[in-house]
Amino acid sequence: MAVSQKGTKTGTAGQQETFQSLNPATGEVVGTYPIMGKDDVQAAVDRAREAFQWWQSIGFDGRKKKLNAFKAEIARNLEELSRLIHEENGKPYADAFLECVMSIEHLNWAAGKAPKVLGRHRVPSGMLLLNHTAYLEYQAFGVIGVIGPWNYPVFTPMGSIAYALAAGNAVVFKPSEYTPAVAKWLEAACARAIPEAPVFQVITGLGATGGALCTSGVNKVAFTGSAPTGKKVMAACAETLTPVLMELGGKDALIVTDDADIEEAATAAVWGGLQNAGQACISVERVYATEGVYDQLVEKITEIAGKVKAGAEDGADIGPITMPRQRDIIAAHLDDAFKRGGRAVVGGPDAVHGAFVDPVVLVDVPEDSDAIQKETFGPTLPIMKVHDVDEAIAKANGTPYGLASAVFAKKRALEIASKLRAGMTSINSVAAYAGVAALPFGGVGDSGFGRIHGEDGLREFSRAHAITKKRFNTPLDIMKFDRDPKLIPRVTKLIKLVHGRG
Ligand code: NAD
Repeated sequence: MAVSQKGTKTGTAGQQETFQSLNPATGEVVGTYPIMGKDDVQAAVDRAREAFQWWQSIGFDGRKKKLNAFKAEIARNLEELSRLIHEENGKPYADAFLECVMSIEHLNWAAGKAPKVLGRHRVPSGMLLLNHTAYLEYQAFGVIGVIGPWNYPVFTPMGSIAYALAAGNAVVFKPSEYTPAVAKWLEAACARAIPEAPVFQVITGLGATGGALCTSGVNKVAFTGSAPTGKKVMAACAETLTPVLMELGGKDALIVTDDADIEEAATAAVWGGLQNAGQACISVERVYATEGVYDQLVEKITEIAGKVKAGAEDGADIGPITMPRQRDIIAAHLDDAFKRGGRAVVGGPDAVHGAFVDPVVLVDVPEDSDAIQKETFGPTLPIMKVHDVDEAIAKANGTPYGLASAVFAKKRALEIASKLRAGMTSINSVAAYAGVAALPFGGVGDSGFGRIHGEDGLREFSRAHAITKKRFNTPLDIMKFDRDPKLIPRVTKLIKLVHGRG
């Protein structure tokens, strides 16, 4: 059976090379797209630069109206977009639907909150400069280049696109070569809602097209993808001192303590680890359970995960592995785990077949094996027994990644969450933070830096502009040469009085 191939060059349309995106379950062609070169990318960025002028001119309120129209366009055609994601990415319709719904929420939040978060507002000017009014405003960068992955072809890039647009930027988006049709759908929806100017454009192609975007003069690059590609993007952007946002991979841990609700923890661990066939940056990739609940948790996870079916048919819980080369990585991690004493309590060594990978739940896997240290990006779930909570925290923090995490506990839940080296933590659930538009999303270490979503996400796509306005003169003005000689002793006294007693 043919399977989806990464940006296979398929021919030329006139002078332009093209590539196909394929349905990963059937191998059928979903669409053929141009491989855009430097000139095409530059032309899109130039158009965006012009569109930015108009986008700026309509102000926060004008943009809010327009973005609400974009949101409505997506909402009205929700089923069509969800079906297209199912077709091009392979995930079940319900999962595709969920990511669209969450994206709509984010677009709504970003458009609604941008005026308050980024608009000019007064801040206290302090004792020494009380004769000045101080203002803070956040200005758009200009044109943002967004480079995205294929695993959440709407939700993930929209975390940058929606917030960048709401902050007043124009956006040029290079989607993954596995999901260009979904990106083109979004571009068309935006053009219907905002016909005045191309504030959101899509450029198609392989890695080199993304590379061209980095050096095209965009004012910031928001990259979501793997750490190795992220390093290349940063290196390319360094040439022009273009700032970058890095949303990279993860090796998220879920901790279960003795006082946790085991039924809830098992249900969430299975969903968090296996949904989208484990192809999520915030997948649960490791479970650490304290001694008192380990056996019970393994039994419950085994029971629930044993019912999860991979396939393309209606009713299948997880779809194919979208990117063929990922299947080799999943197989290699399983192989390494089995060779080093790991056992499967669900699935086994033959889990990888054709385009699909059946769920595998592992136990007894050594901590330094690939399945525990590296991003697997597949439907595998290793469960490890730990002596106590401190060991669980130390092990959860023991990889170079630091994206998200989850804790199932009662008494010490918040304390554990705060000790985790991660950008996000959900307590007694998984991935809940991703659906809360007010919360920032992003990682530390090899999971990247910068934030999408929430107020931080809006500020990520704008630069602070500090303004002061002098209202009157005071005798305390020390910022001139011809000041009264008595002034410094007076200010010295005042400062000691106010600050010298702590
Ligand atoms: P990838 O790194 O292979 O590709 C990401 C994007 O970069 C694609 O659009 C690709 O065409 C482009 N690209 C490739 N080479 C480039 C270059 N030299 N210059 C510029 N662009 C280039 O990643 P992927 O396989 O598409 O996505 C999976 C990865 O993304 C996983 O590691 C996953 O954890 C991560 N991810 C992270 C988040 C997050 O928010 N932190 C969300 C989703 C996915």
